Amino acid sequence: MQISGRTQVVGIIGDPVAHSLSPAMHNAAFRALKLDFAYVAFHVRPAQVRQALDGIRALGIAGVNVTVPHKEGVIKWLDAISPTARRAGAVNTIVNRNGRLHGENTDVAGFLRALREVRFQIRGCRALVVGAGGVARAVLTALAEGQAAEVTVANRTVVRARRLARAVHSRGLQVIAAPLATLQDRQRLAAVDLVVNATSLGLHGERFFPLAYGATPRSCLFVDLIYGRRTDFLARAARSRRRTVDGSGMLVHQGAAAFTFWTGRAAPVAVMRAALRTAPWARPRARPHAAPRRRTKVKIDKGPAPE
Ligand code: NDP
Repeated sequence: MQISGRTQVVGIIGDPVAHSLSPAMHNAAFRALKLDFAYVAFHVRPAQVRQALDGIRALGIAGVNVTVPHKEGVIKWLDAISPTARRAGAVNTIVNRNGRLHGENTDVAGFLRALREVRFQIRGCRALVVGAGGVARAVLTALAEGQAAEVTVANRTVVRARRLARAVHSRGLQVIAAPLATLQDRQRLAAVDLVVNATSLGLHGERFFPLAYGATPRSCLFVDLIYGRRTDFLARAARSRRRTVDGSGMLVHQGAAAFTFWTGRAAPVAVMRAALRTAPWARPRARPHAAPRRRTKVKIDKGPAPE
């Protein structure tokens, strides 16, 4: 990569941020399309978010991704946000348009594209989303945009699930808040087409909550938003011969959508995916969209932290 006087800078702000796979993914894409852009990680603490955004304006930085814990906190310092970001209540991508900062949410599009890629039909589906944090809200927003029929949100802290259900329910999607015991409700599970792990459980090799995998229909798709490892959740679903997808599809597609906002070009998705796999600090990924032939032992390892 040749840095010139005209090189446009983009990047990511977060705390922590050094683990991020986005620099590897975006710089590979810029190289592949011979674009004069460079992507860097900026460690920004919560107390410095406003100054960081002023810095983006002052330095003419073309845009940034926003990661934990700033996705909600940046909103009040932006000049405008998109309707999707407003619905998701979070911004993960900022575009600098002549000094005016626009907030977008590409996590929503990333989730939708990751499901389309494995030919999952969202319209009319019934989903069970485990978790009620930031990424769960993006998933629910995506399911509402994709016209899912009904979503059950199960969370350890039920009041958080209720809050999320209320926020998304008002947009026309039927959302039911439930405790984690729902994961063993065979009758409910028999009617679901999609189960999503939107918690961080599994990030450090933890066992997933007890779930009656075998009670779901054979066609049910299991999606873990954690990427870079074979989680207990996905290993058990695959053992029950259900289709599985890890979070790398969502990660690549949210990045691809941000890339297009900044450059106006279609992103080289295959290049970005390969860069994720080979980034020196990335760990081996779960095999997406496949059930193993034999029973496999769950291997516990430490991989990358969330984007
Ligand atoms: P939040 O901190 O906002 O939410 C965490 C969720 O996990 C909550 O529902 C929380 O439950 C639950 N949880 C955490 N630990 C436990 C536990 N020990 N037992 C039970 N429940 C637990 O995180 P995010 O929503 O931002 O991210 C969640 C995960 O999603 C990340 O770890 C990351 O791996 C993944 N992610 C993937 C992305 C992708 O592109 N693939 C993008 C963003 C995130 P409670 O409310 O009860 O605390």
